Amino acid sequence: MVDGKAIYRLEQIRRTYEVGGELVHALDGIDLSITSGEFIAVIGTSGSGKSTLMHTLGFMDSPTAGKMVFEEQDVSNISRSLRAQFRATRIGFVFQAFNLLPRLSVLDNVVLPLTYSRARFSRKEKMARGTSVLERVNMAHRLTHRPSQLSGGERQRVAIARSLINQPSLILADEPTGNLDTSNRGRVMELFSSLIEEGITLVLVTHDDEVANYAQRRICMQDGKIIEDDQG
Ligand code: ADP
Ligand code: MG
Repeated sequence: MVDGKAIYRLEQIRRTYEVGGELVHALDGIDLSITSGEFIAVIGTSGSGKSTLMHTLGFMDSPTAGKMVFEEQDVSNISRSLRAQFRATRIGFVFQAFNLLPRLSVLDNVVLPLTYSRARFSRKEKMARGTSVLERVNMAHRLTHRPSQLSGGERQRVAIARSLINQPSLILADEPTGNLDTSNRGRVMELFSSLIEEGITLVLVTHDDEVANYAQRRICMQDGKIIEDDQG
């Protein structure tokens, strides 16, 4: 459901690191537009800048130069606190290692990001929201389980539910199937595909061509540049 609304516009984004007196151009002039409802796979060899791009899109890192427009607002030079607020409420993150807290139940893991939102939620509202996103990933039958009591595929589905809890405009997933076996990889990708049908926007980094083939658009990076953008 690509509805044509631009979520992100990156113009000539650069991110340079200095290591031992040498400059590393992790991002070397990235131009990219992301439209609401798109599913974009980012591929490319190790060290090509994929994670740096994700950190930049997710307000976890600031570019050295260039212009970024997020939801029609120029965010190239916004304050640290506004960045933290966008990170907490407008972007959902899914990681290779799931990053669930072992001592918390499935439900408490999923509602945790609501704590960082400015809005205040009652326990009852949190339960309702948490249960609803867990239903979307078919994990509502495991509310009181701990992460250690779940399979890898189930843990990733819970992490995906957590990424949805604030109704973000964009989900960023860095190698989300990297720790999964083939059958769980398939189930997680089917889940992402059904969420795309429901209207989420997803940027997903992968080394895996089969995973990349689920996306409508594939972007290939090399040496901090986009060398291919296949929307076919
Ligand atoms: P990928 O995710 O595609 O493997 P990264 O975005 O992690 O690539 O890294 C891109 C380049 O930037 C690499 O050459 C990497 O060594 C360098 N780099 C990444 N993060 C840092 C950092 N914090 N300090 C110095 N160099 C970095
Ligand atoms: Mg990486």
